[in-house]
Amino acid sequence: MFYDFHIHSCLSPCAEDEMTPNNICNMALIKGLDIIAVTDHNSTRQLRSLSKAAEETGIKLLYGTELESSEEVHVLGIFPDLEAAEAFQPWIDERMPGIPNRPDFFGNQLMMDEEDRETGREDRLLIVSLTASLQECVDAIHSHGGRAILAHVLDRANSVTQQLGFIPMDLPYDGLEIKSPDQIQRILKTHPWIKADSTHWFIDSDAHRLVDISEPENIITHNEVNELWGDIV
Ligand SMILES: [Zn+2]
Ligand SMILES: [Zn+2]
Repeated sequence: MFYDFHIHSCLSPCAEDEMTPNNICNMALIKGLDIIAVTDHNSTRQLRSLSKAAEETGIKLLYGTELESSEEVHVLGIFPDLEAAEAFQPWIDERMPGIPNRPDFFGNQLMMDEEDRETGREDRLLIVSLTASLQECVDAIHSHGGRAILAHVLDRANSVTQQLGFIPMDLPYDGLEIKSPDQIQRILKTHPWIKADSTHWFIDSDAHRLVDISEPENIITHNEVNELWGDIV
């Protein structure tokens, strides 16, 4: 299955307003993807309308969010169903500093219904660090039935290697997100305890604009999806 598990909707302030539920699902369909996850910063509140839009287009949706830990590390929490993702939202809310968004500076945080009509705006700025450590974020994702994927692990901004210096040996993450296959060797060189074969590697777009959603280049097998999220495909 062609996948892209890191896409931002117009709820993320840094994403374009064109990233509406239907536009995301339709663009994924046009690009030839089979399965996507939408992962807004510290929020699951666009996922209900995305669920309906995905149903309309026939694209398989996983339910995500991109958390920012207190160490300013980004980690994707990806859940197999809407209920699990929505049940995770109170945990996020309790750890979110109530900094108001400044749309003119950070961008709009739009919530939409399944017809892409605006239903409201998130007032609290979503691109903030939660008051939870990376370990606590990973544990909470697991206890709510999700999988934790360390985001863009070799990036200069908000990656585990940038913020902590390395990928902790005892952190029970489920996958590592890289930008290209050659990054695997770079990671293995500095992390001899990481086994390439038994690690789930993901190459996602981190799209903030429609055109940036992945082309059909990266494949995940049905078995791997089912192994990670239960028998869902
Ligand atoms: Zn990120
Ligand atoms: Zn992102």
